Amino acid sequence: MRFHVLTLFPELIDRAFGTSITGRALERGNLELHTVNIRDYAKNKHNKVDDYPYGGGAGMVMQAEPVYQAYESVRKTCAHRPRVIYVTPQGRVFRQNLARELAREEELIFLCGHYEGVDERVLEEIVTDFISIGDYVLTGGELAALVIMDAVSRLAPGVLNNEDSAEFESFHRSLLEYPQYSRPEVWREKQVPKELLSGNHRRIEVWRLGQAEKRTRERRPDLYREYERRRACERELLRNKLLHMDMLENLRTDRAQVLQFDETGIMLLDDGRGVCYVSAREPQAGRSMLEKISGQEYDPVPVLVLHQEFLAETAEKVLSETAKGRPGDWELESRLPYVYTQRNPLPRRYEAEVVRLEGSHDGQKRAVGLLLSDLPKGEDRRKQEALKSLAQGRMYGGFSEGKLKGILAQNQMGALDFLYVGEAFRRRGIGRALETAFINRLLEQGRTPYLWVKQENEALQALQENLGLCPAKSPLWILKNSAKNSGF
Ligand code: SAM
Repeated sequence: MRFHVLTLFPELIDRAFGTSITGRALERGNLELHTVNIRDYAKNKHNKVDDYPYGGGAGMVMQAEPVYQAYESVRKTCAHRPRVIYVTPQGRVFRQNLARELAREEELIFLCGHYEGVDERVLEEIVTDFISIGDYVLTGGELAALVIMDAVSRLAPGVLNNEDSAEFESFHRSLLEYPQYSRPEVWREKQVPKELLSGNHRRIEVWRLGQAEKRTRERRPDLYREYERRRACERELLRNKLLHMDMLENLRTDRAQVLQFDETGIMLLDDGRGVCYVSAREPQAGRSMLEKISGQEYDPVPVLVLHQEFLAETAEKVLSETAKGRPGDWELESRLPYVYTQRNPLPRRYEAEVVRLEGSHDGQKRAVGLLLSDLPKGEDRRKQEALKSLAQGRMYGGFSEGKLKGILAQNQMGALDFLYVGEAFRRRGIGRALETAFINRLLEQGRTPYLWVKQENEALQALQENLGLCPAKSPLWILKNSAKNSGF
């Protein structure tokens, strides 16, 4: 992940970010930092970048042109147009779910203001996101940018040593974290809770959850109410677990927020990926839920995952009528969900050695490119999506005789998205070895493995049944706005 920071004080950013965990991640190459001094783009003798505000009033305002030129110097070096964040007290308040959303980007540009702020015209021209770190006013944007960069970095692959350690901490599932203790066992007559010394994982887990609930109830009743609502929503979804595993996993991993939960149905929104999940009790309720998504209240989302056939029948029509998309923009496909409902890991398969691939490893990138060169012409989008999964560390490779023979890509929610074995290496158990490793990895993380299979893909369906995954009784429908290229 690469950060560019446009600032008047690059040394402040370089020093602070170059320290401790983020500093080590910079040295290892898991993160990159590039600071740009806006003053270098001043076109006057004294390198002045601020001037008096039109209309009068206290303080100075940063002028548009040096900011724009500093931005242009960065933009020219980027393959795609990255999100540009202006840190400002006038923005969306930064929270953990926004940190997660930003951690999925490959590159981010931060603009730090100073004085009374920045000329509005350049903000209109370059900024994609306005983010505040809280309801108070700082003297400059550098500390705010550092706060955001720090929280985002620790979610980026490879920054923390243990890839799970960012998963279970404060704000996970709307709970604050449980209390932590370290040696000695007794300090000033205060004993470490006996549950933590028991060595019994289950008992420790139960104690920690109880403590997290108690702490949240006492310190953040607002969060606790949200936690209870989400739990009630999970209980409802569990009534048809096989069909709703995507929604359940999105709730459990905090990727989605609950937009609606009542007796008519459930609607979740993952605004980071622009995906809305809908499950309705009956057609009329479904129709009003769809109208709600496509109407004024929320921006039209590029992907809808619909859990009943009647929703698929009306969605395209409703969205074309109310949202900005044209009827032809929407593509509908149906998939059958499969869920691995057991807790036991699958026996390991030796047909291939399965490893998680590194997007930054040139040799692995070449090997994946070569393997995918077998894909027919019409599958270019598939190939692009697979390469994106590789770059983001969401791909496993199956090797035998030292050669990459198959790959498995996870989508951004962690579900199996794409399983591919090279033409010449099929029917040798490589796909099975890959999926076994994938399922076992998710189980270790306390997740429930699931995937959606195209109804015509009989080979993949047979593999699922063979591995013991259970199919849902009915399929779900994915409606994508092709004009928005969500990469879902
Ligand atoms: N006049 C501005 C206003 O009232 O919105 C405040 C300007 S502030 C003194 C200077 C700079 O600090 C801002 O341009 C912004 O970049 C940064 N800043 C101040 N408070 C912030 C906050 N709570 N979150 C993010 N950035 C902040």
